Amino acid sequence: MFEEIQVKKALNKIKETSRLTLPFQWDLNIYRGCEHGCNYCYAIYSHSYLEKDESSSSEKEKYSGFFRKIYVKTNIAEALEKQLAARSWRKEVINIGGVCDSYQPAEAKYGLMRKVLALMIEYKNPITISTKSDIILRDYDLLKELSELTYVNIAVTVTTMDEKLSSLLEPLASSPKKRFSVLQAFKDTAATTGLHMMPVLPFLTDSHENLEQILSRAAECEVDYALPSLLYLRGETRKHFFNFLSCNFPELLDPYRKLYATGGVDRAYKAELYMTLGILMEKYHHSADYLKPAKTKLSRPKQLRLTDFTEDYF
Ligand code: SF4
Repeated sequence: MFEEIQVKKALNKIKETSRLTLPFQWDLNIYRGCEHGCNYCYAIYSHSYLEKDESSSSEKEKYSGFFRKIYVKTNIAEALEKQLAARSWRKEVINIGGVCDSYQPAEAKYGLMRKVLALMIEYKNPITISTKSDIILRDYDLLKELSELTYVNIAVTVTTMDEKLSSLLEPLASSPKKRFSVLQAFKDTAATTGLHMMPVLPFLTDSHENLEQILSRAAECEVDYALPSLLYLRGETRKHFFNFLSCNFPELLDPYRKLYATGGVDRAYKAELYMTLGILMEKYHHSADYLKPAKTKLSRPKQLRLTDFTEDYF
């Protein structure tokens, strides 16, 4: 179900502390709520449906609002143009879809990204996009054009190569194969690309075989960086994910309770997984330095304003 809304601002400044480690300063989200329905979604907490649906009879109903009722910011382009045209605007990097995927199925109907990208081209504004959908290929022409004018980074998230598992974990996102077709396509543009292998889910997607398949396919797509990270289970995400486990993988409930006694995963597990990932990253010549493409491509460092990058993965 879609609900069309009007916004005064398209861009939101990200927190000062996050700006030190992220290659962007602003967030732009066209949609609130996300149809992809990922059962590990961290954005669930950010949604006002939680308040609205408190009266729902079950946990499942309560969270389904985030995945099924989508607020659509139909005047996003007008609001964006006001901000980009302001004299004070410094052409800083904008992260598109950082909270809710901008290429979720609603975008096929609304086509708002094409208006947003047309403005980015007009104002030559650097952007980064992360998605789990091949709907982004519809905008290949605009993204190619923008990448020839300024910094464009396209990151695709892949958690598993197993299509069946993916359709359980991320029901309405594109299949892993289609997601890799996005990375493959943008290889031939001036855009940089990244693989987000996040989150890695213990006992579900952490097999050596799965991790190696993803990283080797990413190497074929010549991604500029590959960024793995482990599942965190806090707050609403924790409740929702445990509910998902009890419906689909009840045998994993106890192992997960042990591994996630707190929000973060058990330290010994984490150390072992990162060791495996380190070996595979080296084997496939991947860098986890997701800031390097932006530093290399942006003509004015002010657009990025970062402190030195410190690698905390490997
Ligand atoms: S694509 Fe991202 S925002 Fe959308 S449901 Fe999945 S994790 Fe949540």
